[in-house]
Amino acid sequence: MADAGAPVACTNCGAPLAGEWCTRCGQERIVERGALRRYFERQVPRILHTVRALLLQPGQLTLEYARGQRVRSISAWRLTFNVLALFLALSFVTGFRVATFARVDQSGRLQGAIAAAAVRAGVDEGAFVERVERRFALVYTGMTVVTIAAIAIVVGLTHRRRRWNVAGVFALHVTAWGFLVDAVFQGAMEVTGATPMLATTEVTQAAVRGAWWLLLFEGVMFAYVLLALRRVYGDGVVAGSTKALLVIVVRLVISNLVVFASASLALMTA
Ligand SMILES: [Zn+2]
Repeated sequence: MADAGAPVACTNCGAPLAGEWCTRCGQERIVERGALRRYFERQVPRILHTVRALLLQPGQLTLEYARGQRVRSISAWRLTFNVLALFLALSFVTGFRVATFARVDQSGRLQGAIAAAAVRAGVDEGAFVERVERRFALVYTGMTVVTIAAIAIVVGLTHRRRRWNVAGVFALHVTAWGFLVDAVFQGAMEVTGATPMLATTEVTQAAVRGAWWLLLFEGVMFAYVLLALRRVYGDGVVAGSTKALLVIVVRLVISNLVVFASASLALMTA
C-alpha cells in the first residue's frame, strides 16, 4: 500500500517505483514510519532460521546458498565472523587467550618471551599482556581466513563439480559451527581442569583428559562435516567419510598453526 508521504521515484537513482524495491538499483523504498519494526520483522526470522539450520541441519545453509535461496539466512561471512567475535568475547570462559597458552605451556618459553617483550617495550607485564590479548584477537580474526581457505580448497578439490563459491560457503559454515562447538569444549576443558593437547609432552592426568576432550571434539566435527557433505554434495558414506576426515585433519593442523602464528605476531608487534 502506498503511503501518502512515500516517494513515487527511487530516491537513490530516480527510477519510477513499483513496489517496495527499486527494480534498477535495488534500494528499498524509503518509508520512515515503522522502519525499525520492518527491520526486525525481516531480520529476526532470518537470524532464527540461520541459527537453527546451522545447529540442527548440517549443510542446510550451504545447500540453500547453492540453490540460490540466499535471502532467507544471514550471509555466511557475516555469520562466521559474528560467531568468531562471540567466541573471542567468551575467552574469559573458554581460556582461549595468550595468558592461558602461557600458563599451560610447560616449557615456560612463552611465559619467558612475554616477560622479555614486556621489558623491551618498557611496560608493566600485566598491562603488556592485555595489549597482547587485544592484538591477538585482531590478528587471529584476520588469519582465520587462512583456515577457511584451506577447508574450501579441500572441499573444492574433492568434488568433481567445482563450484568454488559453494566450497567457500561450505567452509564458512563449517568454521562457524566449529567455533560454537569449540567454545563449549574449551569451557568444558577449563571446568574439568584438562590441559590442551600439544601443550605438554608429559603424560599427566590433565593431559590425558585434554586428549579425550580433543578426540570428542574432533568426533563431533567429523560427524557434522560428513552430514553436511552428504546434504550439499550427495556424497556416499565411504567417500563422504574420507573427505570429512581430510577436512578435519586439515582444519586441525591449519587452525593450530593459525593460533601459533597469531600469538607470535601479537607478541612481536604488541
Ligand atoms: Zn534506484
